[in-house]
Amino acid sequence: VAKRLQGKTILITGASSGIGRSTAFEFARASPTDLKLILTARRIDSLKQIAADIAKEVGSGVKVLPVQLDVSNADQVRQFVASLPAEFQEIDVLLNNAGLVKGVAKAPEIAEDDMNVMFNTNVLGLINMTQAVLPIMLRRNGGEGAGDIINIGSIAGREPYVGGGIYCATKAAVRSFTESLRKELISKRIRVISVDPGQVETEFSVVRFGGDKAKADAVYAGCEPLTPDDIAEVIVFTAGRRENVVVADTLVFPNHQA
Ligand code: NDP
Repeated sequence: VAKRLQGKTILITGASSGIGRSTAFEFARASPTDLKLILTARRIDSLKQIAADIAKEVGSGVKVLPVQLDVSNADQVRQFVASLPAEFQEIDVLLNNAGLVKGVAKAPEIAEDDMNVMFNTNVLGLINMTQAVLPIMLRRNGGEGAGDIINIGSIAGREPYVGGGIYCATKAAVRSFTESLRKELISKRIRVISVDPGQVETEFSVVRFGGDKAKADAVYAGCEPLTPDDIAEVIVFTAGRRENVVVADTLVFPNHQA
């Protein structure tokens, strides 16, 4: 894996916590001598801390660029890609991980703000990023392209639950967009990959209940959730396959998750 990832430039959205943060560390550990990581999220202080912690753990072989970025702002996304420093411009792996759940409500009670923020982030944000980065990948190999686009969906996109109508719909949309893009790029050397986690204990789990940890913990009754590292390992394994191998669509959930 180290050899296949060597020299690559990896762009992670939502890298300030949870799965994105763990995946940054996992990539750095997998290719500690020669790797570039672009870490993006809105919380720039967390990203800077993660950059420092990665440097402490693996040394200077991994170059980390922390950038404040709101994926739901299409202009900001375009501007960010256009102004990347030269040594970070050739993005090899785009990990579209930024996402959130806000509110758990049955249809009549869904708040307009929650609905907008979930669609703008989980769906339109992911599409904004893909549109901005894809031209870079398509230019390679005389137009045959090269690179990986890895989209984080959710088991919720396959099995909707009561009270999660909007979140589940956003993740179903991610799934459709990913499958459509995979078909669109079938003649290219660009791999389009879905990784759909089940329950993972992150900030996400608490945020959806408005910070109520007891309610969040109740979701895991009878089931030990995955850790963000469990998902990070799957992502890095997937990106580390040889070019002709596409681990296209992976559902990863904890044993006992209903
Ligand atoms: P976290 O809340 O820990 O991480 C979410 C990340 O997304 C944060 O880094 C956050 O950073 C970032 N983010 C949110 N909104 C934006 C935005 N507008 N622009 C840029 N970054 C943004 O949760 P997880 O690690 O669990 O979530 C990661 C992904 O995994 C999400 O797509 C989620 O839907 C998915 N998922 C999670 C599951 C779980 O059980 N935890 C299950 C299935 C899927 P910041 O606030 O700094 O911007």
